[in-house]
Amino acid sequence: MNTVRVGLMMALALIASTFSASAQADETPKIKIVNAAHLIDVEKGTVLDNMSVWIENDKITKVVSQNAKIAAPEGAEVVDLGPDSYLMPGLMDSHVHLVGSPIWGYDAYQHSTARQLVYGVANAKITLEAGFTTVRNVGAPGFTDVALRDAINAGDVPGPRMLVSGPSLGITGGHCDNNMLPFEYGEESEGVADGPWEVRQKVRRNMKYGVDVIKFCGTGGVFSKGTRVGAQQYTLEEMKAIVDEAHMAGRKVAVHAHGTEGIKSAILAGADSIEHVSYLDDEGIKLAKKHGTWFSMDIYNDDFILQEGAKHGMTEESLAKERAVGLRQRQSFQKAVKAGVKLSYGTDAGVYPHGGNGKQMVKMVEWGMTPMQAVITATRETSKLFGIEDRVGIVKEGHLADMIAIKGNPLEDLTLFEKVGFVMKEGKVYKNTLQ
Ligand SMILES: [Zn+2]
Repeated sequence: MNTVRVGLMMALALIASTFSASAQADETPKIKIVNAAHLIDVEKGTVLDNMSVWIENDKITKVVSQNAKIAAPEGAEVVDLGPDSYLMPGLMDSHVHLVGSPIWGYDAYQHSTARQLVYGVANAKITLEAGFTTVRNVGAPGFTDVALRDAINAGDVPGPRMLVSGPSLGITGGHCDNNMLPFEYGEESEGVADGPWEVRQKVRRNMKYGVDVIKFCGTGGVFSKGTRVGAQQYTLEEMKAIVDEAHMAGRKVAVHAHGTEGIKSAILAGADSIEHVSYLDDEGIKLAKKHGTWFSMDIYNDDFILQEGAKHGMTEESLAKERAVGLRQRQSFQKAVKAGVKLSYGTDAGVYPHGGNGKQMVKMVEWGMTPMQAVITATRETSKLFGIEDRVGIVKEGHLADMIAIKGNPLEDLTLFEKVGFVMKEGKVYKNTLQ
């Protein structure tokens, strides 16, 4: 070893010891105690009164009744959420598009990928402040979602914990391709691949650049030009190849599918979640139950698309498709709830303005869930689809301190989910208007 190298290593050792000394100084755990008038226990499906949650650094260490009168340790920070407060786990959304343009149709072309990411930074903050502490971002250009996730994890910008898919896979000319421009522009979306080996290569490429989950388009969709919502895209053979490749590497697969045959093929291929699930039939329900497949059904945004879509540049073709599909999807949701299919809370945020994620709660109860079931779906159940149920999704000892609170009883008035007043993620308070 030459002297320059030895000198460098000594310098590094010195830096390392300086860092560990300062880390040691910080090692006394920071204890926070959050007092709430009510706590929604999503594990038991009950509401507990006068509860205290103790947090050390990023984790919950105690959930106790205030009647136990345990003295707060010296130096602990006490947060009192007030007499009418309802505390619960942070909400989760299994279908968002934080990165993207807020404008639809041809006007969206004025936004570069970089500009879309800057929107994403703002949307991440808005989403977190709306009470959503974990989201799954399904489809983004240029691995901008990977960058946003990493920036949030590094503490550079505030936002929810993100699971990201990178570019969605799709067939040539399908819903996840871009058919807006004529041939001479040569536009093709990044995730386009045809045939079992080509799709495997795309899955590998997405994983190479850091995705957590694989998303592909298994049928046409509302917002693509020239696709039929009900028509299957990808053969069963191609779907199986995508799922096999992803599962081999421990990644789950989310499949965009509105049409009956596309839904069933995706389930048979072994997909983990089906997104949208509009034209669901009885056989599709049976298959989902047999295979343990999750449904992520965005049953709120129909209201927004039909009322506000045209103003935001959505094309007449898209609006016509939504008019055909919206009600049918809600009826399918009702059937899925009745049949006991596994449901996550997925809203397709980005189709409607970010931060309105809580609006779907009302719809889920209108279409067959109990209010408690809706809360459990948006917390504990969605954490199971994400595969992180051992760390988040319940306010309990050992879980990460992701919690939100609302003034008033959201189980009686579900619109209160649009007015989350307190947000904590990993022990850090990002919003508190309740004190
Ligand atoms: Zn979507």
